[in-house]
Amino acid sequence: MLAQDYQSRPKIEMGVDVMKLFLRISLVTLLCIAANAFGQTYPSKPIVMIVPFAAGGPTDVLARTLALAMGKQLKQTILVENVGGAGGNIGVLRMVRATPDGYTVLVHHIGMSTSPALYRKMDYNPLTDLAYISLISDVPMTLIARANFPANNFKEFVTHFKANKDKLSMAHAGLGAASQLCGLLLTSTLETDVLTVPYTGTAPAMTALLGGQVDFMCDQTTNTTNQIQSGKVKAYGVTTRTRVASLPNIPTLDEQGLKGFEVAVWHAVYAPKNTPKAIQDTLLRAVHEALKDADLKSSLAKLGTEPVAANRQTPEVLRDHLKAEIDKWAPIIKKAGQYAD
Ligand code: ASP
Repeated sequence: MLAQDYQSRPKIEMGVDVMKLFLRISLVTLLCIAANAFGQTYPSKPIVMIVPFAAGGPTDVLARTLALAMGKQLKQTILVENVGGAGGNIGVLRMVRATPDGYTVLVHHIGMSTSPALYRKMDYNPLTDLAYISLISDVPMTLIARANFPANNFKEFVTHFKANKDKLSMAHAGLGAASQLCGLLLTSTLETDVLTVPYTGTAPAMTALLGGQVDFMCDQTTNTTNQIQSGKVKAYGVTTRTRVASLPNIPTLDEQGLKGFEVAVWHAVYAPKNTPKAIQDTLLRAVHEALKDADLKSSLAKLGTEPVAANRQTPEVLRDHLKAEIDKWAPIIKKAGQYAD
């Protein structure tokens, strides 16, 4: 009976059905491959955003705020991974060596432009080995000290610093980090020097400062605003030419006698070099939308910063800015005789 049933089936039609099914599957597979190739289904899984400094610090805070807003746009989770060390270079290398498929991106700051002059051996070239997505924001810095530091204003800070420099220490996040550059600019402007203590980011540096293990540091408002407002650290000045809206009572260093002293820490998003153009465009669109996000803007405003102007949110502006910054910092670093291995 069974054999008869089987034999009575129209064999030829079964063959056609299988063929049709096969063709349909192949077509769907091809469409998926094509869509992937053109970035249309991107991102279909979480994206890793590398932060080349410790968790809880200024780069991390900015990146996590951006990751949340970009994630909303991309309808995908963006996981922040902290890869600190060597002033950010270990994290950059991790991104440079990642598969260029859009699932690994990087948020880094001004350190991308200072490393070539600071490090004798660089395993990547910032001008040729990256895909440039966009600038994000310029963050002001603040000069702060532990709460029981004897000086109560910048004038007293300078006097105390110069009289006690052999006993004092300054924390920073490694050679090339913004905190180190700002400190370098400060000590060279004051024509003095000081023992420096590097950390993997200014979050652990802040912990050391709060614990009184180091005396002072220069760090971004994204890490210092809350500590200044709650009186856990003393603040002596902001590093921008104008005061910072969220810290209206902190004068600029420029207005307190350091004429022309100015450091703002620019940040940007990058991807590995051969990331497909369609994916880079998708990431750029997500950055544009994220930087318009009301929650992102209000979080950044509370921390003393804001997104860069819309006309600066392009890969070309980022690449040109990076080149200009490399050219600007190289002679300053050379003159200061700063090198890492
Ligand atoms: N951006 C900080 C610095 O350069 C480091 C950090 O984000 O922790 O000092």
